[in-house]
Amino acid sequence: MAALTGRIETAEIVAVGSELLTAHRIDTNSLYLTGALNALGIVVAIKHVVGDRPAALRAVLQEAVSRADVVITTGGLGPTDDDLTREVVAETLGLALHGVPEILEIITQRFARRGARMPEVNRRQARVIDGARWLPNTHGTAPGQIVTSGNRLVILLPGPPSELEPMFEASVAPVLAARAGGRRLRRRVLKTTGRSESQVEELAQPVYAPLVDETPPIETTILASPGLVELHLSCSGDDEATLDAALDRAIGRLTDALGDAVFSSDGRAIEDIVGALLVERGWRVAAAESCTGGQVLQRLTDVPGSSAWVLGGVVAYDNAVKVEILGVPDRVIATDGAVSDQVALAMADGVRSCTGAEIGIGVTGIAGPGGGSPEKPVGTVFVAVTSAARRDVRQFLFPGTRAMVRTFSAAAALDMVRRHLQG
Ligand code: ATP
Ligand code: MG
Repeated sequence: MAALTGRIETAEIVAVGSELLTAHRIDTNSLYLTGALNALGIVVAIKHVVGDRPAALRAVLQEAVSRADVVITTGGLGPTDDDLTREVVAETLGLALHGVPEILEIITQRFARRGARMPEVNRRQARVIDGARWLPNTHGTAPGQIVTSGNRLVILLPGPPSELEPMFEASVAPVLAARAGGRRLRRRVLKTTGRSESQVEELAQPVYAPLVDETPPIETTILASPGLVELHLSCSGDDEATLDAALDRAIGRLTDALGDAVFSSDGRAIEDIVGALLVERGWRVAAAESCTGGQVLQRLTDVPGSSAWVLGGVVAYDNAVKVEILGVPDRVIATDGAVSDQVALAMADGVRSCTGAEIGIGVTGIAGPGGGSPEKPVGTVFVAVTSAARRDVRQFLFPGTRAMVRTFSAAAALDMVRRHLQG
């Protein structure tokens, strides 16, 4: 391989595969690669998704190679006719391919270990672009390749994530790290809940806008999903300690501005935070869920180790379940309605007493699209969180589809548990 010169600052990713242009498969390799490249201080400028068509792939490659310091392709290294990446990259760079006996031997052995003969079609996978360095595939048959073209690198990686990821770590990251010139990109994510995207923007913008003009400059983006607004901060430079200190300062100022809406700045989700708070107190939680149908418990039990602090709960969809299992008084449902603060409180108390949990959650609401009324429109949700010490209940009016109302409700319930435990 020719001597490598020049710093690598920008990358383009080309995900190859016609299935990635259908509604059935999504390109996740580029997400993995973007994270791995960013960690090395390399910015992904553009990514492409191309079908298994040589002309389209050639056009994209020509463009990408003319712009980016490194171009990484994924997929199309297999043995079948639609696997064209090797051939098209070679042709685009004006290079030939040659067979490598050592690769052929490795592939033959791989089949032999499973008691099989290597199919003739797999010979193609032993073909390497002239001048390229080939990368062993410890989890499959197709080797990767690193080709130098002028000052740029073109890197061919297999499509299956289980093959691509270990190959990137073992054989690609060291090559790129050596040429990324020590420039590092650091990121932080500040997570908030209970405020809308525009409320967060209003409070945070005066704090983060000037950060881009400081040294080192910090870029901020806001990402919103139901019940969660995240601020993503990034900054790049040569000295990691300087970057970390700048990000710490920025996180501190943003946390001051946003107050207790901030629940994490270390990547943890709200259910992780709730789990840690429960462990601290030695408490266990139980939930009685109506409109969320189990989503609160689903999220809590997503956390590894949650069996230490989740007891369980009841999906109390029908009033009979609220009454007979949770002990919600009939007359409260009759006077206040099943969607009411009193029922939410009685559900939280009820699930606490039937499980023995120290803290209980009750969620009841109208997720829609039907079932709303002028007094209680679709999106009306009551969440209660109770313990021996305190009984909290809140009424919400969430916007959006049924799925959104349910997601908002679960997020609100988890946040109320956090506040109950912190307050
Ligand atoms: P193989 O030897 O398995 O054929 P390949 O390098 O030719 O490997 P593809 O045929 O393109 O890879 O894809 C193989 C598998 O990897 C498929 O299941 C495909 O959906 C998955 N895959 C391919 N590209 C991506 C991608 N960008 N993101 C996530 N999965 C992918
Ligand atoms: Mg294939």
